[in-house]
Amino acid sequence: MSATTVTEATMPTSWGRAGKATWFNTFSSLALITGVPCLLHINWIALEQFDGSITAALGAAFKEGPITFAFRHFPEFTMASTLGYVAWLLFQAALYSFLPGPGCYGQRTPGGHLLKYFANGLLAWTVTHGMYIAASYMGLVDPAIIAKHWEGMLVAVNVYGFVLAIVSQLKGNFFPSYPEDCKFSGSLLFDFWGGVELNPRFGEFWDWKFFHNGRPGIVAWSLIDLSYAAYQYQLHGHVTTSMMIVTLFHTIYVVDFFYNEDWYTRTIDISHDHFGFMLAWGDTTFLPTFYTLQTQYLARYPTYLTRTQSLAILAFGLSGYFIFRSANFQRDHVRAHDGNTNLWGKPAEVIRVKYQTSDGKTHNSLLLTSGWWGFSRHANYLGDLMLTWSMCAVCGFTHFIPWSYFFYMSILLYHRSIRDDARCRTKYGKHWDEYCRKVPYVFVPGVI
Ligand code: NDP
Repeated sequence: MSATTVTEATMPTSWGRAGKATWFNTFSSLALITGVPCLLHINWIALEQFDGSITAALGAAFKEGPITFAFRHFPEFTMASTLGYVAWLLFQAALYSFLPGPGCYGQRTPGGHLLKYFANGLLAWTVTHGMYIAASYMGLVDPAIIAKHWEGMLVAVNVYGFVLAIVSQLKGNFFPSYPEDCKFSGSLLFDFWGGVELNPRFGEFWDWKFFHNGRPGIVAWSLIDLSYAAYQYQLHGHVTTSMMIVTLFHTIYVVDFFYNEDWYTRTIDISHDHFGFMLAWGDTTFLPTFYTLQTQYLARYPTYLTRTQSLAILAFGLSGYFIFRSANFQRDHVRAHDGNTNLWGKPAEVIRVKYQTSDGKTHNSLLLTSGWWGFSRHANYLGDLMLTWSMCAVCGFTHFIPWSYFFYMSILLYHRSIRDDARCRTKYGKHWDEYCRKVPYVFVPGVI
């Protein structure tokens, strides 16, 4: 087997989230905590009240002034949606707590903990969707129920997201599950945004981050799509090919996530990002409302694709999915076999590395330098972006709203690659530099 073996290295003892916040971190946290929720509401206002035009909605906000605009146009609380959302949260929490699922372990935390998870997400997704489809088929529930209650739902999810972020902040400060993994930056705002605790838990296994990242938001994602597809049918008398393709893409992505849920415990969200507003509000509120913008748009403003366009978008999107899945699989597979396996018909090439946790213990790991991880340092992000582009392309090129998801994902993944680079350099030192020399490009060789 062809592997570069590295012996000992002087490793830093702390490689988690960066320590002290700068004024820029504080300012950008404030801007994100206030700005992104406003943006989310403006998307809904544009879709519902301004024919899908974000520029018309922003123009009205400018003309009327922000306060009058908010009073006139912002979504309103409804008791039915609020009760429905509370029931949804309790139902997902019950499925998470009681359904059987295989046990798995995440990455070792900077404090040295190796946490156990139970991956029953696929079963929870199947039970939820099975019940929704059966209830719709039997006429017990209007399949467009979520779409029709979306206004009140937006209020309910936002309130829950903010409350969860505040409670998580208090828990991190006063009752942390793993104090060695807490981070305090010196800026209350940055801590609120980025989180204090890495893995807040009830007891030994009930993980706040694992539950909220996956269940109320990602299970809802494909359910919301189905509801908007039903809404399109009720409004226009048919379901368009564009709606079917985007629902298929979203469903593949969601089912893939739950099918590979144990892999997810070793990704950046679970292994490295702390549980603050970004994840608490992001997963419960931003994800189900922003990631479904294409189906929300198409239900009201259908796009009609030619057969060639449909096939081209399908082919491009599925190719993206293939790259995304196979890159993520390769990394997990090679690490699970300690580098002793083949990729693309050849022995995997790896750099063997060591790192230290804050308890002073040294651990072994490896960086893969062949397969997709030899092609570029984030081929998985590239595949994800190809799929994301295809999800937006089905909506045509006339409106910005359905495309905002592609711009958001591009910024998110690019910024993530920078954060990850900094963190891995601190964790692996000169061996990360060696990897970067060997695999110099982040997304596409010769381009970026
Ligand atoms: P990765 O799965 O790429 O994980 C990066 C980590 O992998 C690094 O921190 C490092 O962690 C390890 N690593 C880096 N290089 C190598 C290598 N050469 N060999 C072995 N291990 C390596 O990132 P994410 O967790 O961000 O993303 C996971 C997937 O989720 C991606 O496909 C992404 O596209 C997708 N995603 C989707 C989002 C969405 O909203 N739809 C949001 C974010 C991500 P370690 O400490 O273990 O060494």
